[in-house]
Amino acid sequence: MLRLSSRSLVVLVGASASGKSTWAAEHFRPEQVLSSEALRGVVGETTRDQRASKDAVAALDFLLERRLGRRLFTVVDSTGLDDVSRERWAALAATHELDLHAVVFEETATTCKARNRQRRHPVPQRVIAAQVKRVGEVAPGLADEGYTVHAPASVRVVAPAFVGSPAAAQRQRSEPMTMRFGLSVPTFEWEGGDDTIGERLAEVAVAAESVGFSSLWVMDHVMQIPSFGPAYERMLESYTTLAYLAGRTSTIELGVLVSGITYRNPAHLGKIVATLDVLSGGRAWCGLGAAWFEREHVAYGWEFPPLSERYARLEDALQLLPLLWGPGTPAFEGRHTSLAEAACYPRPLRDPRPPILVGGSGEQRTLRLVAEYADACNIPGDVATVRRKLDVLRRHCEEVGRDPADILVTQLGHALTGSDPDEVAALVDAVGPGDRAPETTAERLNAGTVEDQIGRYRELAEAGVGMAILDLPPVATVAAIERFAPVVAAFA
Ligand code: ATP
Ligand code: MG
Repeated sequence: MLRLSSRSLVVLVGASASGKSTWAAEHFRPEQVLSSEALRGVVGETTRDQRASKDAVAALDFLLERRLGRRLFTVVDSTGLDDVSRERWAALAATHELDLHAVVFEETATTCKARNRQRRHPVPQRVIAAQVKRVGEVAPGLADEGYTVHAPASVRVVAPAFVGSPAAAQRQRSEPMTMRFGLSVPTFEWEGGDDTIGERLAEVAVAAESVGFSSLWVMDHVMQIPSFGPAYERMLESYTTLAYLAGRTSTIELGVLVSGITYRNPAHLGKIVATLDVLSGGRAWCGLGAAWFEREHVAYGWEFPPLSERYARLEDALQLLPLLWGPGTPAFEGRHTSLAEAACYPRPLRDPRPPILVGGSGEQRTLRLVAEYADACNIPGDVATVRRKLDVLRRHCEEVGRDPADILVTQLGHALTGSDPDEVAALVDAVGPGDRAPETTAERLNAGTVEDQIGRYRELAEAGVGMAILDLPPVATVAAIERFAPVVAAFA
């Protein structure tokens, strides 16, 4: 089984009638395959019109350049025997950061000739003999040209995040690492009327709790954000939603990912979190961030100060909250917030306090605040991004004298999960927008099988992630939670 990243250029190398087009048609969509033969039929009289060969090559190069410019998965179906062309294609793949593969069809001249003879318009047999010989000469040098070389086999095209999954999943089986999982519920678009939202949400929370998710998160928005849907979609107010879920669940932790600093006076926010913590039996998180969605602020008449001021307010909150939740009623003087009495009774149950998670991975300011004040960070993105951001966080920790091991690393991402590749493809088809290739949607949503996900989360765990927070597109359902459950179990 060939496992290819959906960010790849695949170049076929083989004599005429060696089976290239047949293999390509079995494994890829027609629009992913650029065939010099087919293009001869487009720019010339028929696919066998040798007079149009030069134009077909030019057409192929034009199309290839455009597709690779968009980083679209592409298969070049020609004999692949022209050294100059292969070199050009390799350079294009490098420019656009695509994996480069060659699939070599090493059929014997006898086989190719026999197949060729069956064709309605065979190519001259001596051409085939020469090509077969040439394949033998070209193949050994492909690796040096930058190609990863394969024999034709069955193929699975996977999102880049899953390329290393089989090996990583194997590591997870042989030497398991533990990792916690948080379920993010950023959309509420279940079927049924608004009168059913409460029940759907409770079912989801109960299911998440029962399969081992350690936390559940909602966003702090009053209208849906563009990355998830149009503004007229349903959006529930964050803390009333968590309070409701506190009453419907018993062990799962509850947090807002993340409370925007602009929406409430920070002491009021602290009061809300403390109340959630007390009423949930010590299950509250305190997610905090600098806020960004200006449209909501305009809509609701909230102030939306410049970023520097929002960061100053965030830092005020980070200093204030532990005081507010602590003993006594100290006065507090921050840069934008002054309190006569930082008083909050009952104090949160959680000792020493509800953990503070600062959302976002801005390297200068956000990760600095994490190093200085937070119990957890939240980094969106893939393994490489997480590693890069954690390097930055470690440097901040060094500067402020904080032990990085004291900061829980949480990672944020989507996880569309199916039990097998066919189910994954069907799920991707169901949610993908019409202007995106399935590969693009699959990459964006991290669409993969259970095994793929185990491998991907193993790599995240190895990068330092202690809790993965994920949403289940397009909307969390009991069925989607059950499909993801084996992944949670693999890290228990
Ligand atoms: P060309 O370079 O001329 O386009 P090609 O490498 O694309 O050739 P195909 O057209 O895929 O070759 O296959 C040539 C013939 O061989 C076809 O009739 C096809 O049905 C047959 N064929 C292809 N693959 C196999 C296979 N694995 N087993 C048996 N027959 C095959
Ligand atoms: Mg062909």
